Amino acid sequence: MRAHPAGPRHGEIPAAHLDAPAGDLNLLDRKVWPRTATRTGDGALAVGGVDVRDLAATHGTPFFVLDEADFRSRCQDFADAFGDAGQVHYAGKAFLCREVVRWLDQERLSLDVCSGGELALALSAGFPADRIALHGSNKSTAELRAAVDAGIGAVVVDSFDEIGRLAGIVERRADRAEPHTGNGGVPAGRRPVPVMIRVTVGVEAHTHEFIATAHEDQKFGFSLASGAATEAVRRVLAADGLRLVGLHSHIGSQIFDPAGFELAAGRLVRFLTEILERHPELADVLRTLDLGGGLGIAYTSADDPPPVDTMAKSLSEIVTRECQLAGLPVPAIAVEPGRAIAGPGTVTVYEVGTIKDVELGGGLARRYVSVDGGMSDNIRTALYDADYTVVLASRESSAPAVRSRVVGKHCESGDIVVRDCYLPADLAVGDLVAVAATGAYCYAMASTYNRVPRPPVLSVADGAGRVLLRRETYDDLMRLEMP
Ligand SMILES: *Cc1c(COP(=O)(O)O)cnc(C)c1O
Repeated sequence: MRAHPAGPRHGEIPAAHLDAPAGDLNLLDRKVWPRTATRTGDGALAVGGVDVRDLAATHGTPFFVLDEADFRSRCQDFADAFGDAGQVHYAGKAFLCREVVRWLDQERLSLDVCSGGELALALSAGFPADRIALHGSNKSTAELRAAVDAGIGAVVVDSFDEIGRLAGIVERRADRAEPHTGNGGVPAGRRPVPVMIRVTVGVEAHTHEFIATAHEDQKFGFSLASGAATEAVRRVLAADGLRLVGLHSHIGSQIFDPAGFELAAGRLVRFLTEILERHPELADVLRTLDLGGGLGIAYTSADDPPPVDTMAKSLSEIVTRECQLAGLPVPAIAVEPGRAIAGPGTVTVYEVGTIKDVELGGGLARRYVSVDGGMSDNIRTALYDADYTVVLASRESSAPAVRSRVVGKHCESGDIVVRDCYLPADLAVGDLVAVAATGAYCYAMASTYNRVPRPPVLSVADGAGRVLLRRETYDDLMRLEMP
């Protein structure tokens, strides 16, 4: 049983075995491609009004191209659906760079980070610390200290050890604090640190199903069933420097069925009820239920994720209903989408190199189409058996469809980008191909395996392109070498 809910590993659909070629290979399925993607008059793919052939000519290949309008519109969809942009926490681990941090700030979203490195990046781009939450199942003392020093919006605590260390950090700060500094008359060092408790509620969700269990066999959070979550509440309340502001749950990734979220929300509300019965004085402080991330996106035409507002409505209904039954004021609902915001708006463009036809026996053949990137810029196919959609991007073609597999340039037979697809028979060396929905967990997980420099990330909007992250160079790769 796959049992850790926080990574993007969950719920990937196994590579579908396509037995019949899709109709017109030139078509761009609206739900798979960025919102501004089109074919130009002469058939090339354009994103944000920019022809990918022009981007290739200027920047070389491969590259990621991020549709700014798509990214921002998905932020707005979530803000509208949940009624408060600040309760929408973009999960930075999906993809983060300074410009994206600035977009998130402009869209008034909050930001979740899960390491000191992500926190440092967000702060370096000027993101307000009080709209950042820090996650992680093994936060270092240095990471906790950096979060406290920055005045972070919330630390989502994940272990008894962490609660103790965090309380200690705040206490030592308070000892050092000048009596009359800080804002609002509260000495800076004495401001309590807002804390959420990560609760594992016994729900594990995957694309098309969820599993409800009474036990938890994974590294994240405090289990509800064992009483660990109750003990975590006790310890946070006992620590002077910590202020319990919310309960958090994250049940999986690439989820299409809201039923898993509903079950988790129900369990979280019942836990909140128990806490408030014992501690009615917390009613004005313990005000947020964070239901985590995991909303699925369409990687292929076979995927049908529910619209964000449908998901938001069912979550709000269940929380409201459960709270009314319990006679509680309805708390704020927070969510943490990563993939659902960053994923669909980015496309990877590669140049086609080696093409090989391989006999599979029984009259079947498969065409191996090699591209100038691979598992170093997209590990998800190798790691999770993820499915992707690929098209010929530098032109249209009416040649017959050929069963193909898009592979990279790395020294691994598992270096596969798109396991099963159809591409036109006249595909040739030098053509550009584009892989859709690569905005989440591709660049973020990129490596320099085989000393292949990481590709640039370009953004496009209103007919203009610019570089967000430049292409890595051989010099960059040797930067860490000691003399
Ligand atoms: C990974 C993660 C997310 C984001 O998941 P997506 O599938 O990208 O939406 C949100 N919250 C937590 C705690 C996570 O670990």
